[in-house]
Amino acid sequence: MDWNDTPEQARFRAEVRELIETRLPERYRLGGAGERAWEFDRKSPDPAARKAAMDWHAALAERGWVAPHWPKEYGGAGMSAMEQFVLNQEMARAGAPGVGGSGLSMLGPTIILHGTEDQRHKYLPPILAGEVTWAQGYSEPGAGSDLASLQTRATRDGDDFILNGQKIWTSAAHSSDAIFALVRTDPEAPKHRGISFILIDDIKAPGISVRPLIDMGGRHYFNEVFFEDVRVPAANLVGEMNRGWYVAMTLLDFERSNIGGAVGARRTLDRLIDVIQGDPALRARIASSPVRHEIAQRYVETEVMYQFSLRIISMQNRGQLPNDEASMAKLYNSELSQRLAQTCMQVLGLQANLMEGNEESSFARLYIGMVPATIRGGTSEVQRNVIATRGLGLPRA
Ligand SMILES: Cc1cc2nc3c(=O)[nH]c(=O)nc-3n(C[C@H](O)[C@H](O)[C@H](O)COP(=O)(O)OP(=O)(O)OC[C@H]3O[C@@H](n4cnc5c(N)ncnc54)[C@H](O)[C@@H]3O)c2cc1C
Repeated sequence: MDWNDTPEQARFRAEVRELIETRLPERYRLGGAGERAWEFDRKSPDPAARKAAMDWHAALAERGWVAPHWPKEYGGAGMSAMEQFVLNQEMARAGAPGVGGSGLSMLGPTIILHGTEDQRHKYLPPILAGEVTWAQGYSEPGAGSDLASLQTRATRDGDDFILNGQKIWTSAAHSSDAIFALVRTDPEAPKHRGISFILIDDIKAPGISVRPLIDMGGRHYFNEVFFEDVRVPAANLVGEMNRGWYVAMTLLDFERSNIGGAVGARRTLDRLIDVIQGDPALRARIASSPVRHEIAQRYVETEVMYQFSLRIISMQNRGQLPNDEASMAKLYNSELSQRLAQTCMQVLGLQANLMEGNEESSFARLYIGMVPATIRGGTSEVQRNVIATRGLGLPRA
């Protein structure tokens, strides 16, 4: 099999590079954008940050590249999975932030699959326009890996539901406009059958409070979200009442398929090599150190990760939604990202412990930032359970 670009892919790659060269705001060039930079910048008190987020969104929108994976009829670019990969690759190489947040990557495709036509018309355009971003309200204090144990209640009251309960680890809820949530609509049913998927249009609606949680890197990244008698129209259910589990799992497959994953690891490795090549003392040290083998091993692993991405791409090109394959890619990529961050620390020694620079340019921040990689989006243990049961047909616990 030939992994090189076809002439069309090469042309498309050149187009993407040109857009990045001419339109990527300066703010994202200095060592690259941090995680969710676009979402946070969009709501930043700093006008320069807000402008950078809007300019970059406008640049992508002019080309119709805001939603590469959405079908054209819903305003997406309708790109093949391979074109999406090329776009992701070039964006990640340049450190350019993705736009649209979870609304674009996960919720939009889920509404396209499971939503009503009215919901598609109401919710998709503001996501595309960068006007509304969504937080993901799945996890609760007593429901993470065992998500189906969730307790947030939605009780029917006329044409509405009344929500009560708590979500936790809600990424970017403080900068989001809206939140989608899994709620229990039938407490008597077996736990997977009494859950519904609901859209809460305004995260500032009466009864909702968002409280910050500060992570080990000192960042305000995720939050707790409390619901106290929050009124939500029944029309906001996605899919059937009490069948939300299936909608939720589709969304998780979109989350785990993330075909850009391989590119991030390669970018980190390239950055490490650049630092070594630019530092004669470090080069001399590496020449006589077994750490060279460790770097070579990480290179082999980034190539393996690349193959995982191509497998997912080829499934998506055939119209299939990767499931245990997405879990394998997520598992491998998240564990690789931690090994790679560890290798960077090993190679650079104390220099790497400095917290200088931003999230992208500091290896110390990278190392800390990768700790949650094997927890978010389902832990490594959970991914291995999925692979064992759905991939290999082994019995469930
Ligand atoms: C950076 C980050 C961002 C996040 N963003 C969001 C978000 O936006 N929205 C959201 O809803 N959630 C979010 N989460 C939450 C995330 O989905 C959960 O943390 C994750 O699913 C694990 O749940 P838990 O933390 O409750 O751990 P637990 O489920 O309590 O697990 C604790 C440990 O037990 C292990 N374990 C549990 N069950 C099994 C089993 N059956 N077999 C083997 N081992 C098991 C786990 O692997 C883990 O090591 C985020 C988490 C992180 C770290």
